Amino acid sequence: MTQGKLIIFSAPSGAGKTTIVKHLLQKFPSLSFSISATTRPARGDEEHEKDYYFISQESFLHKVAHQEFVEFEEVYNGTFYGTLRSEIERIWNTGKHVIFDIDVEGGLRLKRKYENDALAIFVQPPSLEILKERLTGRGTDSPEKLQERFTKAEKELAYADKFDVILKNYDLETACKEAEKLVGDFINKK
Ligand code: 5GP
Repeated sequence: MTQGKLIIFSAPSGAGKTTIVKHLLQKFPSLSFSISATTRPARGDEEHEKDYYFISQESFLHKVAHQEFVEFEEVYNGTFYGTLRSEIERIWNTGKHVIFDIDVEGGLRLKRKYENDALAIFVQPPSLEILKERLTGRGTDSPEKLQERFTKAEKELAYADKFDVILKNYDLETACKEAEKLVGDFINKK
């Protein structure tokens, strides 16, 4: 197996990282999305083995016990998310680089593990207020879940300067263009 690179996008939920990651996947055929495992149920039109591996808590904890994760997090109370070692290997075996959409703690953990093979990008929303509006407007979460996401987002914003790059997402088109440049330079670097 030849080891590819890792491109990590982290941000509070609602900062726009998923949209930016999807844009990059269209632009760069050499990138492949790391499908995380999660214990939360699928939302909207999400699909198993495309957006996430939707698994039971029992199965998740079994994988934790067998050290199958390179990182995992109880991102929300009782809801686990994690990156499987087998997922990174699956992608590298296809000769591609891995792109991640993952929470701030998980992103920093991957960066510490893979060091110069990883580029860790923090997507910064214009403000907490705008982030709250975006999350509310999405209409996919209950009021309790939304509150949990707001509280977590507030904490996560403080982690920005621990990343290699802070990408401001004040205007989506500009942010996508900047992301293209950052990722293009990184994957072409020897
Ligand atoms: P959502 O429920 O909105 O899909 O994701 C909630 C949060 O969990 C997001 O910040 C998302 O990036 C993060 N997340 C998704 N997959 C993983 C993962 O494998 N590990 C960690 N640590 N966080 C993840």
